[in-house]
Amino acid sequence: MTTKVSIRKEVEKLREELNYHSRLYYVLDKPEISDAEYDKMYRRLVDLEAQYPDLVTPDSPTQRVGDKISGEFAEVKHSRQRLSLDDAFSLEEVREFQTRAKRILDEHFDYVCELKIDGLQMVLTYKKGLLVTAATRGDGRAGEDVTHTVRTVRDIPLKLSKPIDIVVSGEIYIGKKDFDKINDQQKKSGGQVYANPRNLAAGTVRQLDPKVASGRKLHSFVYDIEGDLEPKTQVEVLGVLEELGFSVNQEHKLAHSMDEVGEFIQGWTSKRDSLPYEVDGIVVKINEIRQRLVLGTTAKSPRWAIAYKFPAEQKQTKILDIIVQVGRQGTLTPVAVLEPVRIAGSTVSRATLHNEDEIVRKDVRVGDMVVVQKAGDVIPEVVEVIKGKRSKSAKVFKMPDKCPICGGKVVRVEGEAAHKCVNKNCFLVQLRKLQHFVSRDAFDIEGLGEKIIEQLFKEGLVRDPADFFTLKEGDIEPLERFAEKSAKNLVKAIDEAKEISLDRFIYALGILHVGAQTARDVANAFNTLEAVKHAWREDWIEIDGVGPKVGESILNFFQDEHNLELVDKLLKVGVKIQLPEKPKSNKLGGKTFVVTGTLSSMSREEVEAKVREMGGKASGSVSVKTDFVIVGANPGSKYNTAKKLGVKIISEEEFLKLVK
Ligand code: NAD
Repeated sequence: MTTKVSIRKEVEKLREELNYHSRLYYVLDKPEISDAEYDKMYRRLVDLEAQYPDLVTPDSPTQRVGDKISGEFAEVKHSRQRLSLDDAFSLEEVREFQTRAKRILDEHFDYVCELKIDGLQMVLTYKKGLLVTAATRGDGRAGEDVTHTVRTVRDIPLKLSKPIDIVVSGEIYIGKKDFDKINDQQKKSGGQVYANPRNLAAGTVRQLDPKVASGRKLHSFVYDIEGDLEPKTQVEVLGVLEELGFSVNQEHKLAHSMDEVGEFIQGWTSKRDSLPYEVDGIVVKINEIRQRLVLGTTAKSPRWAIAYKFPAEQKQTKILDIIVQVGRQGTLTPVAVLEPVRIAGSTVSRATLHNEDEIVRKDVRVGDMVVVQKAGDVIPEVVEVIKGKRSKSAKVFKMPDKCPICGGKVVRVEGEAAHKCVNKNCFLVQLRKLQHFVSRDAFDIEGLGEKIIEQLFKEGLVRDPADFFTLKEGDIEPLERFAEKSAKNLVKAIDEAKEISLDRFIYALGILHVGAQTARDVANAFNTLEAVKHAWREDWIEIDGVGPKVGESILNFFQDEHNLELVDKLLKVGVKIQLPEKPKSNKLGGKTFVVTGTLSSMSREEVEAKVREMGGKASGSVSVKTDFVIVGANPGSKYNTAKKLGVKIISEEEFLKLVK
């Protein structure tokens, strides 16, 4: 009894999930999971419903086509119910389809094999030879009126050569190259990026503005007709459609036996890459229309056709390294760095390895040749290791016991496969460090906003600040909001930022208590990084603007091995610290200046630069060693300190006179 309760629960959960994903897929054109994942859940539900028929409800995803329609467009009632197709995931399952048909139809039948175009089904209604409506399949009973956009598809005739009444169905699709191009443009303009050509075709057809659709190069292939003309076989259907001026896919074949069907499927499984458009399977249809009528349909699909779905595309490549990413919640995910390889329309250089158990189970090692696939064309994953190609130098991977980001302790969560960094702030702290590093008073890199840094960090492309300088266009281009040009610009901006003044460099390191002004004071006092690194405790006390607390903090920073490694790494990747400019004169030689408040003709930085240029020293805080305090509007506490200490206070005008 308990099992029945748990089965009911599982069924309900599957329905809830499938409904959620159906809506994302059919209504919003924004799937979150791969088709393969969806199909797996769907299959599980079909199996459970077959075992427990009393659990079947009319609203189950297994009993209906598509999803509710969005309501954004006028509804078009279809002349007859538009169905989906049953799936087959192996040749065995295609044979089972034949067996089922034979049970009803006790005679020989031929098949027509057609490519299953990864597009969007369209129902085109012609009256007296003119296109009157184009509608989506919708929920099968009614679809959305998208005539305004479908009219822009150049290979769909608006007028036929004969004044006939017909309803034609087919697929609207977009070519692979155009898919890449449009997604690139979408990325650039911050628009929606589509998961696959079908989503893009659907998103395009369902635009309100036909101009958008007309700029996107949609195409069509049609395969069905009803109405005034009555062809007797599928072969004739395709011939008639071609004669009428429609675009019909030429790669179809009349097959007299299941063996011939199998050959066609196998042939295209390896050839499909060469097509300029995506094909996700082969549709096998019984050729004779009379025989189809005998077979009839179920609630959801015809009994005379089946859609064989290709397995996810796989490629072989080499694992160059295994790195560990740390997520927002501190979860450590091992990721394989791959020799770049093109799979299902894009170049892949990383693949998830999920967790340590998965690595052990698949016995993945650095240096191994592996089979990689895009799970449902979204996230690449390592399927298996090609053991025969393993070299002796292949290295076993071990999960680190210290967090690669913060050095914190790593623990394995009890009862879970995940390893986690125990430092709750790990992710955010590191993210803030990276943001600080490129901020205005530090390396000041244009184009490295918060969101982009977060993406680079999450993807494991940037772990520490030095990694910014080794980024390649190809690393950045696949990220959200990026395209070829913007990736190029960012790499250029990073390259230009490599030359930096000592004060900015010190500030960028994010040393505790060291703000932009203190960094300037330190740089002024020491002039070179080497001198800063090797300063003694006593040296710090001497320096204006740096008290013992700040001095201690800088000292500690440069005694930490990790920090020294980072500084070395920065210099190694090409960061150049500019030597301070030699003073142009010695007019202010030996004098120390402090600015407080807002000046009207110069910024504080400009005043300080001027002071240095003339041989003086600029400091951020007032002490007995200060010679002048320049006071602008709304001065701060430095003004009071200056008064208390009896330091000479001058106005902006007086300062300008001094340096003239
Ligand atoms: P389908 O894609 O499995 O196949 C039926 C469709 O194939 C037809 O409606 C037609 O549009 C198309 N087709 C292409 N070429 C054809 C040809 N030559 N002859 C006849 N039809 C042809 O079925 P579906 O109902 O459109 O979609 C269901 C599938 O959608 C699922 O199997 C799943 O893979 C995917 N899906 C994915 C998600 C997700 O979140 N990723 C959610 C819902 C559905």
